[in-house]
Formats: sequence, structure tokens, C-alpha cells
Amino acid sequence: MAVATASTYRMLIDGAWREGATGRTFVVRNPATGASIAEVPDGNLDDVRAAVEAAHRAFPAWSHLPADGRAAILHKAATIMRERQEELARLLTMENGKPIAESRGEVASSAAFLDWNAEEARRTYGQVVPAASPDKRVLVLRQPVGVVAAITPWNFPLSMPARKVAPALAAGCTVVLRPSRATPLVAIETFRILKEAGIPAGVANIVTGTNSAEAGRELAEHPLVRKVTFTGSTEVGKQLMRYAAGTMKRVSFELGGHAPFIVFDDADLEKAAQAVILSRFRNAGQTCICTNRLFVQDGIAERFSARVAELARNLKVGNGLDAGVQVGPLIDERGFQKVEEHVADARSHGAEVLAGGRRVSPDGLQGYFYEPTVLGNVRTDMLVMHDETFGPVLPVMPFATEDDAIRLANDTPFGLAAYFFTRDMGRGFRVAEGLEYGIVGLNDPLPTGPHIPFGGFKESGIGRENGAEGLQHFMEVKALSIAL
Ligand code: NAD
Repeated sequence: MAVATASTYRMLIDGAWREGATGRTFVVRNPATGASIAEVPDGNLDDVRAAVEAAHRAFPAWSHLPADGRAAILHKAATIMRERQEELARLLTMENGKPIAESRGEVASSAAFLDWNAEEARRTYGQVVPAASPDKRVLVLRQPVGVVAAITPWNFPLSMPARKVAPALAAGCTVVLRPSRATPLVAIETFRILKEAGIPAGVANIVTGTNSAEAGRELAEHPLVRKVTFTGSTEVGKQLMRYAAGTMKRVSFELGGHAPFIVFDDADLEKAAQAVILSRFRNAGQTCICTNRLFVQDGIAERFSARVAELARNLKVGNGLDAGVQVGPLIDERGFQKVEEHVADARSHGAEVLAGGRRVSPDGLQGYFYEPTVLGNVRTDMLVMHDETFGPVLPVMPFATEDDAIRLANDTPFGLAAYFFTRDMGRGFRVAEGLEYGIVGLNDPLPTGPHIPFGGFKESGIGRENGAEGLQHFMEVKALSIAL
């Protein structure tokens, strides 16, 4: 694939492709090889402000466009995205490292977010409420909230922007996106697609750059921004919430997770083992809903751990562009060090390495590759059992009863996704209801999609994306009381 150049990648602000105010750029690197892929504008505060002001100017016309008009543009963008699936998937793998099959899936799901929200745009119904007196009428109207600032992480560089920008635009909001500095390229491509699909100037803006803290603060404090939607770590989410409080902005936060995966002894064990592998090791374990802790009922714990370790050892690690690769590199040095620290901490406290446990260099590649790792004999006070590893490491712990499993699973400040496998439907309901999590997969390691509300309990966030709920978070409710 041809290597892109700085002239290919610019920021879309007020309908025009721009360099940053300073003219500076930064390099985006392939985490599998360390090679430079492209240069991207290093936008500063002037660029952020220009984008916010453009979005503010574009808001009246866009919010008054009938829903059909907004839906037509989003559907067209989805079609273009599907036509470019292969090209986008390759670029995504180059900047993020994930296997190409996962990138193709991410392009498909991103196009699905555009289509789903295009349809939802037509269904932002209000209400007529029975009035308290005969000479009054009461209506409940829904209106777009205004300028939306969206801040996204690197682990799903295409679908995270799509999951925010699509509902915001569908609701009638205008948007400024700040993608992660590690993976801005497919985000920029998304805006190229939106422009080609006919999005008016200023409605969708993207500002790239290296100073995330400065840009994030500006977006969360800017008086013209009415809503901040952020996906990333809980730590940064809390900081943004403090900034947003100054102007009482609406916020939606999709933050960290620490997903438990519970296997009861009546489960289909082979299906459960395959599901754990998928849930833990896709995207090299760098997924907010990835399994972080595996709890197995004590009678089957040894046999099940051995099977999971065997499957983990058989996963192919390498450059995501190579056929058959199932686990790519970690995103960067910081991510790699966290994984090493978690494994070292577990080992030093007596954990047994059942699979993996070290850095590897497939085909001599210098990226941050780590073997899919399974740890036995773990305790709840080990780092892996309470801090999000965000890497290919799976600690396994036995449990005795249903109540124990629920208690262990809920013993965390996070509450994003949880999984469990059982064939007993009564237990299915009891456990699903007992788990303090926003997303529960019962015999299902992939409980997500544009039609399913996505978000967390506790410190995993506020609000929901996707589903019918998703769009509502970009709208205000207005009560209209009329005296006749
Ligand atoms: P991060 O919090 O470091 O960064 C997320 C985004 O915020 C990036 O664009 C980054 O540039 C920006 N940012 C960083 N510091 C900032 C600051 N001080 N102020 C404002 N913006 C700042 O997270 P990450 O490493 O990019 O992503 C991994 C985290 O994201 C994990 O905790 C993961 O669980 C979480 N995540 C959650 C979901 C979800 O839907 N709940 C989805 C994906 C990732």
C-alpha cells in the first residue's frame, strides 16, 4: 500500500481541509513495525476554537434540516464506507495493529452505526401529555442539544468516532471530533467520507494533535460546546467531568472496564472456552469490554483452565496485515509496560503461568508483541484482578457457589461488561440480575451492536451509546405548555 503523505491528511474545519495554525505536524507510526505511516497536523487551541466556532455557526441550518435530509447524508456515508472497506481496514490495521479481519469487521460495524442512526433520526418522537385543565395542551418536544465535542481513544479508531458522530449528526447536532493521537488516520477518512456524502460546511469538524490534555480541557470548558461525549480511561473521564461542570455541559462517558467471565459447571465448556479466548484476546486484549477476570466453578476449574491455556498457546501472533494472524501488537511502550508490570506482579505473588508470559518478536518484528498469557493460582489482591490490564493476559480463579461468583464479579469499581456461561435458565436470570454491569452476555461473548444500548454502571461511565437510548443523549427535552 502506498505510504500516505502529509498532504493527504489534514483537518476538516468549516468545510475546508486545513493545516494546523502553527503548520506543525506529527508522525503516525505502525505499532507492528515502528514505521512511519503518515504525517498529520498538530492542531493547537486556535484550531480547536476555530472548529467549535464553525460548528456553532453551522448548527441552526443543520438542526432545522428535516430528519430525512440528515438521514440521506448518513446513509450515503455508510455506502461509501462499505465501498472502501478494504482500503480502510488496511489503514486501520496499519495504525492500530489489530488483525485485518477485525479491522474489516470494524469498518462494517461503523457503517452500521451510520445506517442505524440515520433511521433513528426519523424516530425522535415527542409526546402529547394529557393536560391538567381543559383549556391547556401540553407537548413534549425533543431538540438537538447543540455543538457536540467528541473525544475518542485508539483501540477502535473508526467505530468510536462513528458511534459518536453518527447519533450526534442524526439528532441535528454539529460536531468537533478529537481522535487519539495514536490513530487519527481512519478518523480523518471518516470525515472525508462525510464530506463526500454531502455534509454541509462546519457541521462535522475534526481537529488532530498531540496535546490531548489541552485540547480536551478546551473542548470541555468552551462555552459554545453543549455536550461532551468521551470514550477512554476512567481517570481522564473524571477530569473532563470536572472541566465540563463549569458550564454544566451534558456528558456521556464510556470509560474503563474490568469484565468478569463466569463459567458454571453445567455450561457447554467448549463453547465457553472459545468464547473466553475471543473475549480476552481480540484486539490483543485492548478492548474495554474484554474479559479481565475468568471465574470457573471449582469442579471444572483445572480442566477448563488447561483447555483455555491450550487455545491461547495456539493463537497466531504477528503483523495484523499477514493472513492468519489473530493477535497483533500492543499499541505502544506504555501499554506494553502495563502488561509486563501486571504479569510480574502476579508472578511475584505466586501466580502460575499456564500459557505465554513474555514478549515475542514474530518474524523479527520490533513492535510491542506479547504472548497470549493465562495465569493460574491468582488472588484478588493482584494487579491483574483489579486494574484494567488492557493486554493479552487472562487470570483464572475458581469459585464455589453462584453467590460467590456474583460477589467476586461485582468486587470492582467498574461495571461495563460481564459474561457468564450456564445452561440453567433460572440461574441465567438470577445471575444476570445480580451483576452490576451495563452489558451482560449470557452464553454470548459479543453482546454489542448498533441496536444494543452500550454503557457502564459505576465508574465505567454515564449515559449509553447505541440502541434507541443512544440518540436521546444528544437531545434536550422541552416541555411546551399552551393555554388556549
Ligand atoms: P485515554 O483516556 O488515555 O485517552 C482517550 C482519549 O482522550 C484520547 O483521544 C486521548 O488523546 C484523550 N486524552 C488523553 N488525556 C487527556 C486529558 N487529560 N484530557 C482530555 N483528553 C485526553 O484512553 P486510551 O488509552 O486512549 O483508551 C483506553 C481506555 O479507554 C481504556 O480504559 C478502555 O477501557 C477505555 N475504553 C472504553 C470504551 C467504552 O466504550 N467504555 C471503549 C474503548 C475504550
